[in-house]
Amino acid sequence: MLKLKAVEGDITKIAADAVVNAANSTLLGGGGVDGAIHRAGGPAILAECKVINKEQGGCPTGEAVITTAGKLPARYVIHTVGPVWKGGRHDEERLLANCYRNSLLLAQKHSLKKIIFPNISTGAYGFPKILAAKTAIKAVFRFVKANNDFEEIIFVCFSSANYEIYKSLLGKEAD
Ligand code: ADP
Repeated sequence: MLKLKAVEGDITKIAADAVVNAANSTLLGGGGVDGAIHRAGGPAILAECKVINKEQGGCPTGEAVITTAGKLPARYVIHTVGPVWKGGRHDEERLLANCYRNSLLLAQKHSLKKIIFPNISTGAYGFPKILAAKTAIKAVFRFVKANNDFEEIIFVCFSSANYEIYKSLLGKEAD
């Protein structure tokens, strides 16, 4: 049965089949969780991102691509590009849901069982935290209802504020 839970911590420290990166559309690295993943994973990740960037010109918002995880305790990094929050009338919720869905689609394609998500778009991209969490949980539930081949999906929260939000939305499942 699928375990779906929230933990508080640093995504670069968690063993998994895939960790998801909240990348920007160039895939060439940035701050926040993106910077942390590239720093901890080493140059092999950026090398693959550069190839993808050259081949397909980066990654559009809501889409996802997959690379090695380099030195991280994960097998792969799935890079997805969250929407920048622009007030809520620019399709932000649908685009954020697409990030979760397309990341899981890629994971499924590679037969990956344990996936870790950060709180996409809730840092520099300014998405309201509660709405982001609701959108993330809804998108993941919707996907796994139709595709139950995952073993564990974890929302890793870097801030205690986000962790409290996920805990209350997921109820007992969060512990
Ligand atoms: P975005 O541009 O999508 O908003 P950010 O990296 O700025 O991306 O923030 C996304 C989320 O990732 C934020 O909630 C931030 O607190 C969190 N975050 C930053 N560093 C880490 C980390 N090492 N592990 C997990 N989450 C992190």
